[in-house]
Amino acid sequence: MTITVHQFPCLSDNYGYLVRDDESGKVACIDTPDAEAIIAAAATRGWGIDLVLNTHWHPDHAGANLAIKERFGACLAGPEEVRAHYPLDHAVKDGDSVSLGETRFEVLDTGGHTLGHVCYYSAPDSTIFVGDTLFPLGCGRVFEGTPQQMWASLSRLAALPEDTVAYSAHEYTLANARFAETVDKSAVLMRRIALVEELRLQGLPTVPTTIGEEKATNPFLRAPMLSPEPDPALAFADIRARKDGFKG
Ligand code: ZN
Ligand code: FE
Repeated sequence: MTITVHQFPCLSDNYGYLVRDDESGKVACIDTPDAEAIIAAAATRGWGIDLVLNTHWHPDHAGANLAIKERFGACLAGPEEVRAHYPLDHAVKDGDSVSLGETRFEVLDTGGHTLGHVCYYSAPDSTIFVGDTLFPLGCGRVFEGTPQQMWASLSRLAALPEDTVAYSAHEYTLANARFAETVDKSAVLMRRIALVEELRLQGLPTVPTTIGEEKATNPFLRAPMLSPEPDPALAFADIRARKDGFKG
């Protein structure tokens, strides 16, 4: 059982994802940032869209739900919070699994950016779609939850196998790097930043990343090592607050 991931940039800094279960040919669309871009991406592959998997309710993640349902007849699945803003057929919660042909995505609650944010994980494919929870060298802003909740969510992601490939919803890495280098001077971070700069100069994506790479260099996952706060969640809150106030 394998999946094929088609990644494409859209809006100002989002990534859209179409994921095909190779066995059945069924296709899922992770979030719906931009109907036109998603429809064009499906057309280039000759794919339909059977399923939408929303990570959270924000417009750049669920805003085109209706358009994708109307165009492809896709089933709309996501956390209950989506329903207050956009159409949803099937509410998912932590511990659920969602089938796409032979592929099963486990639903992980990763609240904090929004209260109901979820990630979609396929262990056999070593693949997770992390929405706005985790970014290369960064993490989502804590809009609705608490820093403690966000830290718990990031800790769940950090507990996954290190070779897990994590697909984030935005290309924020260069800005994240500018902040990361103010709180961490490690050689491994400096090497990674040089690589990120090179990729972006060439117009190449820095997404996806891996859990192992983020554990080694992401200042939010490394917060307990970087902040004087003895409590890990408070250390995270400290680093997050510094980033929120950071003027790059
Ligand atoms: Zn968001
Ligand atoms: Fe977003």
